[in-house]
Amino acid sequence: MNQSDSGARVALVTGGAMGIGAAICQQLAAKGHTVLVSDINLEAATKTAAALVEAGHKAAPLQMDVGNPDSIAKAFAAVEKDYGRCDVLVNNAGIAKTYPFLDFPIDNWVQTMNINVTGVLVAGQLAARLMLKNKWGRIVNISSISGIRAGAGRTAYGTSKSAVIGLTRQMAIELAEHGITVNSVAPGPVDTPMTQAIHSEETRQSYYRLVPMRRYGSTDEIAAAVTFLAGDESSYITGHVIPVDGGFVAGGVLEI
Ligand code: NAD
Repeated sequence: MNQSDSGARVALVTGGAMGIGAAICQQLAAKGHTVLVSDINLEAATKTAAALVEAGHKAAPLQMDVGNPDSIAKAFAAVEKDYGRCDVLVNNAGIAKTYPFLDFPIDNWVQTMNINVTGVLVAGQLAARLMLKNKWGRIVNISSISGIRAGAGRTAYGTSKSAVIGLTRQMAIELAEHGITVNSVAPGPVDTPMTQAIHSEETRQSYYRLVPMRRYGSTDEIAAAVTFLAGDESSYITGHVIPVDGGFVAGGVLEI
């Protein structure tokens, strides 16, 4: 396979069945990639992949629990057998729950670190080994504005997303010489099943005050940044985090 033959590229998106991951699958498929819609929820991944195929794209579902290294290894073994390559990995799957710091449950801490951080490491290792074959690869890790600015209740989630940003840099410097770039996109608030579950009306109103654009982002706005980092045009960018956040990280809105 020719590394510059972009039409032959295989892209794997974890947590691709819904929310931000589904929009990423859609945009990568529209670029001509064969998209592996990977998710813990096989039924939902199958539906998302089928809709892409119906729209004329190349896609298939792939069962993977990023909280379980054996499940990740099994999925990548299937990718190697069926496709012989993985050119793009988007580590998108993640979980979020909020609790006050003083009562923070340790089991949620362990589970969050396992899924949000260890999953990125293990999938990143396995994808990079396949990318080495063609000396070309793109890894995009989805972090969060909560990994850059602390938010109440986000002891595990915020810390896990800071770790994703640190891990992105570590991966980037060791994989750079192999033609593999590793970057992170840090979304601001986006309407998805995740935020519908955890954002109270108070949280939503806080974001409208604190996000200079005064609105939530769309899944397509996040996917557009990921698709840029997953393509040829971003070839000299590695180790960076790009907030896609309506200006939230740039600064708060000071009332005058
Ligand atoms: P979501 O909960 O709406 O969708 C997540 C998807 O991941 C689902 O399809 C779910 O089945 C899958 N998933 C969950 N656990 C999994 C596991 N162990 N293995 C494999 N798949 C698993 O989430 P979302 O809002 O689309 O978020 C996607 C990513 O973006 C997450 O990493 C999240 O932390 C990050 N993010 C989201 C927001 C936001 O406002 N929605 C903001 C910042 C960052």
